[in-house]
Amino acid sequence: MTDGSVRARIAPSPTGDPHVGTAYVALFNRTLARQTGGQFLLRIDDTDRTRYQASSEQKIFDALRWLGLDWDEGPDIGGPCAPYRQSERNAIYQQKVDHLLESGSAYRCFCSAETLAKAREKQKQDKMRLGYPGTCRDLDRVEANQRAAKDEPHVIRLRVPAEGETSFVDQIRGEIRVANSEIDDQVLIKTDGFPTYHLANVVDDIEFGITHVVRAEEWLISTPKHVLIYQALDHPLPRFFHVPLLRNADHSKISKRKNPVSLDWFREQGYLKEAILNFLALMGWSPPDEEEVFDLDRFQQEFNIEKISTGAPVFDLVKLDWINGMHIRRMEPQVLLKRLADEGFLPPAVSQEDAATILPLVTERMVRLAEFSDRTDWYFGDPIAPSSDQLIPKKGTRETSLCALEGSRELFAEISPFEPAAIEAALAQLLDQHSLKKPQLFMPLRWALTSRQDSPDLIEVIAVLGKDRSIERIQRALEILVTAP
Ligand code: GLU
Repeated sequence: MTDGSVRARIAPSPTGDPHVGTAYVALFNRTLARQTGGQFLLRIDDTDRTRYQASSEQKIFDALRWLGLDWDEGPDIGGPCAPYRQSERNAIYQQKVDHLLESGSAYRCFCSAETLAKAREKQKQDKMRLGYPGTCRDLDRVEANQRAAKDEPHVIRLRVPAEGETSFVDQIRGEIRVANSEIDDQVLIKTDGFPTYHLANVVDDIEFGITHVVRAEEWLISTPKHVLIYQALDHPLPRFFHVPLLRNADHSKISKRKNPVSLDWFREQGYLKEAILNFLALMGWSPPDEEEVFDLDRFQQEFNIEKISTGAPVFDLVKLDWINGMHIRRMEPQVLLKRLADEGFLPPAVSQEDAATILPLVTERMVRLAEFSDRTDWYFGDPIAPSSDQLIPKKGTRETSLCALEGSRELFAEISPFEPAAIEAALAQLLDQHSLKKPQLFMPLRWALTSRQDSPDLIEVIAVLGKDRSIERIQRALEILVTAP
């Protein structure tokens, strides 16, 4: 497994919807592996049985695959280090922890939750550092083993040296040193017999031959404990990279209470995978030419993990919208059309042909694919009729609107073939002939034809609707105006 190439991994916990932070970390890990001809692994961290959700795992796979962040080894595809699901690796953790118990790097702790709570209270009162008070550190090992053999509930803790300090290099942040007195005797195996994240994580990273641990900054605080576990297991450290957390503009961490964080949500809204990857890449990387819209290939070629930014990247959906719109407009029309169809954004009754006709009109303003049906419903069906208020613009009167609509109806009837240049000329003639201001002509027409304020270019709308449908809608609007009180 260790032929010198990179082995990187992500290790999501299946505790809910696939999180955008998982995609963010996956992107950087996978890019690093792809750049170096190494491997990118997916591990499922499911040791926390209280937060475990059975459906979550498949959702994570689906969301990452949808983004194109596929992996080389993982629970669903296997690989040389299988199993890749922590809940299936308990025997391995047990074996490692037995070794740690034997060497004295770990010990059994029989303190009840109540005892620990009391000790904590006392520490608070005495204004001491909160943490395990070390009650069971010096229990006789044989005696402790006997108590365990009689099924006395207990946990297994890491014996953190009382003196000295633990240090490691974070490849992004430099050397980090922590006094051992600040590090708690971390629980490695819980009373339910399952390992904690800390033990399972280090054992697996060793067993899987992980060379580069790229993960979110929130784990930085756990890394000294991990370093001590590596040392206790007599194994060299991987290279650590703690990437900045995704934050709101007020610096708070993004969370599902405040932000949309589920990848499923982004997909349902019609964000393109290209745009999401582009946006996430920008959270840790700025292209030298400041060209913020790019594709994965470019990122893979130019990204340098050593130069990842440590600033707090702002997870700004307005920016994502902008990037999404840019990618929509960069796409070949047929590719975009296929994407709309594949992602379920084409209304069921709409043919590919009709969709292809209308698509060029709406791409200019479209931000998310989910807007497609709303932006085009005027074309595919008969829109709800506009009100007389909508047909009379702020800078106009009922008379100007009547004049605009009647004039259009008459001139359109004479146009043949019904083509954009002729339509444009007719509109110019109307403006001129009746001394109408542009909004006095365009607004009532826009409302009459599309029942919306922000339609695509009006001339294109008229052309694509065709003569008969345009005249029919103008006629209907005129009736509304005439009969309005
Ligand atoms: N299971 C952890 C998580 O959910 C993995 C952290 C790590 O990459 O070490 O993020």
